[in-house]
Amino acid sequence: MGKRIIVAGAGHGGLTAAALLAEKGFDVTVYERGKKGKLGYDWTDIFDPKALDVVGCPWPPKDKYEWKVDMTFWGPNIKPEAKIRQRVPNDPYEMEIKMERSDIYDMLIDFAESKGAKIVYEVNILGPIMIKDRVIGIDTDKGQFLGDMVIDCCGCESPIRVNLPEYLGIQKHPTYGEKFYVYRAFYDLPVDISTVDDLYKVVLLPDPESVGICWIASEATETDSHSDLLIGHMDRFTKEEALEIAERYRKTNPQLGTKLKRGGYFTLIPVRQPLAIMVADGYAALGDSAFMTVPIIGSGIGNSIKNSKILADVIAADRDEVYSADTLYPYQLEYFNKMGRNIAPLALVKLVLTRVTQEEVKYILENEILTYREMTITANHTSIFKFLHFSPTLLERGLALAKHPELLKKMASVVVDIVQYYIVSFLIPQSYDRRRLKKWARAYNNIFERRLPKDKVAADNAAYEGK
Ligand SMILES: Cc1cc2nc3c(=O)[nH]c(=O)nc-3n(C[C@H](O)[C@H](O)[C@H](O)COP(=O)(O)OP(=O)(O)OC[C@H]3O[C@@H](n4cnc5c(N)ncnc54)[C@H](O)[C@@H]3O)c2cc1C
Repeated sequence: MGKRIIVAGAGHGGLTAAALLAEKGFDVTVYERGKKGKLGYDWTDIFDPKALDVVGCPWPPKDKYEWKVDMTFWGPNIKPEAKIRQRVPNDPYEMEIKMERSDIYDMLIDFAESKGAKIVYEVNILGPIMIKDRVIGIDTDKGQFLGDMVIDCCGCESPIRVNLPEYLGIQKHPTYGEKFYVYRAFYDLPVDISTVDDLYKVVLLPDPESVGICWIASEATETDSHSDLLIGHMDRFTKEEALEIAERYRKTNPQLGTKLKRGGYFTLIPVRQPLAIMVADGYAALGDSAFMTVPIIGSGIGNSIKNSKILADVIAADRDEVYSADTLYPYQLEYFNKMGRNIAPLALVKLVLTRVTQEEVKYILENEILTYREMTITANHTSIFKFLHFSPTLLERGLALAKHPELLKKMASVVVDIVQYYIVSFLIPQSYDRRRLKKWARAYNNIFERRLPKDKVAADNAAYEGK
C-alpha cells in the first residue's frame, strides 16, 4: 500500500489531486464537511475546460455544458455607447465553458473515485495535527486522522492554514482588498430575453457603499429562465443590504426579477496574489487555500485543477517519501514559474479599484482608455501579459489619460508597483530555507499591502480576532 495522503476538502483541485495520486498508487482519502450529492453551490460556473485535459479527466457530456457568452462591461452611470462588449474568439482553445457547479462536482468525484480515491463526507475539519514543525494529520469533529501528508483544499478560509503555527510563515487570512464578499442569487427573468441587450452585464464600482463589482446574467431555455445576480464587495455586508442593492439595480435592469429561484447566500472569493509560502513539512496548500484565483475576476476552478497536476507530480517524485517542506517546495516554485508570477500582478491592477472613484471609472470608459481588447478575458488569461495590447488608438488613449492628472497619477503608481513586483518576484528563493523564504514573503506581500487603506485593513484584521 502506498503512502497515506489526506486531502482536506473536496474542492475542485482537491478532487483532481486525489485522482492523480490514487492513480500513482497512493492511499488517498478526501475528507469533506458537505453531504454526499450536495457539494458546492446551487449555481453555474465558468472555467477553462483545458484544465480537464491537464489532469486527464474526461470532458462532460455535451448536454452538461455550454460555451460562455461575451460579457459587457459597464461603469456607474455611463452613457450606453461607452459600454465595452468582449470579443472572445470563436475558438475552443480560447473559450470557457459554463456548467452547473453540482455537475462539475459529479464529474470530478467520479474521476477521483474511478482512480481509487476514497471520499468521506460530513467530516468537519477543525485544524491540523502537528508534531513539532510537521503536519501529521487533521483534527475533525469525527476524530483525528493521520497521514504522511495533508493537501489543504479547504478554500479561502481553510481551518488548517489558519491554525498552522505562526512561525511557519504561512499567511492565515486574506485581508481587506484581497477578497470579495459575494452575494449571489438567481431571480426570475420577467422580460422577454430578446429584449435584453447585455446577456452578461458586469458593472465596475456599481455601489457607493463599497468598492466592488456586480453582474446580472440573463438566460432562457425552453424550460427555464432566470437572471443571475452577483454582488461583490470588499467590505462585509448583510443580506438586508444585498436585497436593497438588488432593488436599486432593478430600476435600470428590468431583466432582474424579484422572485428568488436559487442561491441567495454569501460566499467569499480570494482576489489577491498567491500565498507567499504554500508548503511546510507534511503540508501543501492548493486552490483557493493558496489564493490561486485570477485576482481580477476570481476564477479559480481551472487553476486549481491545473495546479493539482504539479503538486501530484512533485509528491510522486519524492523518492524518499519524506514530503518535507524541502521536497514539496518544487511544487510552489513550478507553480510560481508557470502561473503565479504573472497572475499576481493582476492583483495590483485590481487594487486600482480601491483607489479610483466612480467618476474616474466613468471617465475611463467614456474616453475609451480601456477597450474591448483589454476586457476580452479568455480561458488563457492567467497572465498580466495577456491583458496588454498595443492598439492603433494608443496615443489618443494616452492623451485622454494625461488630461486627467489625478487618474494618471493613480495609473502610474500601478506601473511602478508592477515593476517593483517583478524585481521581487525573481528573488524568490530557489530552495526551501524558511528564514529566507519568510523574508522574501514579507517583501512580496508588502508590494500589494502598502497601498491598502490602513483603517480598513485594521478593521478587517480585528474582525478575525473577534474584537
Ligand atoms: C459566487 C462565486 C462564483 C464563482 N464563480 C466562479 C466561476 O465562474 N469560475 C471559476 O473558475 N471560479 C469561480 N469561483 C471561484 C471558485 O469557486 C474557486 O476558485 C474554486 O472552487 C476553488 O476550488 P478549491 O479546490 O480551492 O476548493 P473550494 O471550491 O473552495 O472547496 C473547498 C472545499 O472544502 C470544503 N471545506 C471547507 N472547510 C471545510 C472544513 N472545515 N471541513 C471539511 N471540509 C471543508 C468545502 O465544503 C469545499 O467542498 C466562484 C466563487 C464564488 C464564491
